[in-house]
Amino acid sequence: MAVLEVLRELVEIESPTDSPGVRRVAEVCARELAALGSRPRFLDGDHLVAELDGDGPPLLLVGHTDTVWPEGTLATMPFRVEDGRAYGPGAYDMKGCLVVLLEAVRLAGERRRALRVFLTADEEMGSRRARPHLEREAQSCAAAFVVEPPGPSGNLKTARKGLGRFRLTVTGRPAHAGTHRHEGVSAVEELAHQVLALDDLNDDERGISVNVGVVRGGTSENVVAAEAEADIDVRVPRHEDRERLEATLAALEPRLEGARLEVGGGWTRPPLEPSAGAERLFAKAREHGHALGLELEAESSGGGSDGNIVGAVGVPVLDGLGAEGAGAHAPNEHVFLPSIPVRAELLARLLRDPGL
Ligand SMILES: [Zn+2]
Repeated sequence: MAVLEVLRELVEIESPTDSPGVRRVAEVCARELAALGSRPRFLDGDHLVAELDGDGPPLLLVGHTDTVWPEGTLATMPFRVEDGRAYGPGAYDMKGCLVVLLEAVRLAGERRRALRVFLTADEEMGSRRARPHLEREAQSCAAAFVVEPPGPSGNLKTARKGLGRFRLTVTGRPAHAGTHRHEGVSAVEELAHQVLALDDLNDDERGISVNVGVVRGGTSENVVAAEAEADIDVRVPRHEDRERLEATLAALEPRLEGARLEVGGGWTRPPLEPSAGAERLFAKAREHGHALGLELEAESSGGGSDGNIVGAVGVPVLDGLGAEGAGAHAPNEHVFLPSIPVRAELLARLLRDPGL
């Protein structure tokens, strides 16, 4: 099928994480991959794996079939093409990128390496279900290429931060705000101290970010608050930072006498640290890109992807190999159509590279 037709078909199936559309998107990809000679199979219902015979240990191609857009979005954000851009929910992240993957496998033809395609069904929610399957399928692979969108200037990604989601729960002691205020211990006041202490953990130089994104607490303005909590997003570039930060969070001490703290939650993605393996993959990509008129650079991303999971099992990862576009997770989301054949050819050349 023509590239644009497949893109339209994929975008017009709404596929928020955990919806039936996810499996339908995977079935379209399975149909296209089967037409290219692969043997697709489903794991845990909707994660797709497809093997393609070829030389050597397989190269892993990683993408995802879910989007962040709820069902019904198409009514206000229909698929449309304008000025070389295709719009619609998930057109860029990552249905346009899935088309790059499919097209790359086609263009790579017969003289390519053995391939294993893994399409995650719940990437946008942190790949909790896919993770053990992806780890297992990645283990025997020589290298992995992730078709997430490239950086804003088209750059590839050789490192990504690790992500954690924590919850700090503060327990105080309730009391009447007017008559018995001094008998109470305010969980809201304690939380205020802790929010400022957490903010101090930010370290731009090391690339560590700690964001208290949500706070909740108290029951009424005339009651000293008994409970309060904060949801915290933590991002770290290295494993050692992760351990240090985890220890710091576990060691938080209350400032008010009688208040208690409890930290829950944990790490959702390990950091994808810069590695010699990823550098080598990037050097190859830059060389092939050069022949296609692309001046590619490598960059590190603050956001996570399935590349983090694959990197953690020791497989070298090159990420950002999808199509160019803009507005991921935003109403103007679109993929830049002329980049699809170029990025597909870049990936196809990597899949044919005997030196990987
Ligand atoms: Zn994505």
